[in-house]
Amino acid sequence: MEKVKVTRKDLEIKKGTIEVDCIVVDGKNINLTPVNYQSIEKFITHEDCCNCGREFKKGNTYDIKCYTCRSLDSIEKFNQLQLVEWDGETPLYLWDLDVYFFDYESIEDYCFENETEISELRLVLCEKSHFSYVDYEDFAQEVHEDWEPSKEMKDKLEEFNKFLESQSTDTWFPSKKRVDLTEFAKEVDHEVR
Ligand SMILES: [Zn+2]
Repeated sequence: MEKVKVTRKDLEIKKGTIEVDCIVVDGKNINLTPVNYQSIEKFITHEDCCNCGREFKKGNTYDIKCYTCRSLDSIEKFNQLQLVEWDGETPLYLWDLDVYFFDYESIEDYCFENETEISELRLVLCEKSHFSYVDYEDFAQEVHEDWEPSKEMKDKLEEFNKFLESQSTDTWFPSKKRVDLTEFAKEVDHEVR
């Protein structure tokens, strides 16, 4: 069956009764039957946006804002990030779109393929992740409560944790800093000419 449009107004909420098993303790009825329930949102396909009031088709069950309002929220959130200079090398992340750039050329390619300008892109500086230090809790759960590591174990663990610092995860994730490559792109264009 084709999915039809259902709004909140289409679903009238009526009162109903269910039968449950009870016991009486100290004069009070105690219900023993687990009661199933569902949320009305699951049955509503179109909702009025809580921000602009316009009706929109929901993408997710609990969407309360239309796509436009959510996009505007996201842009505002992006603009609140600290603006920093780009060093020309640190990987960049495209806000909301889950796209990573590892060099400037791939940003240019992206703009070409998507018919957009570098100045239009919302770019976030990436940070490299680090290995977490190994702690006794990671491998010594089954010890009595007064247990202490030997000096040899302490030294070896310290040595290993130092070694981890020297190793790269090669894993980047978006930071809380944004960059604006408008000027950078102009300079590159200038150098090319
Ligand atoms: Zn809206």
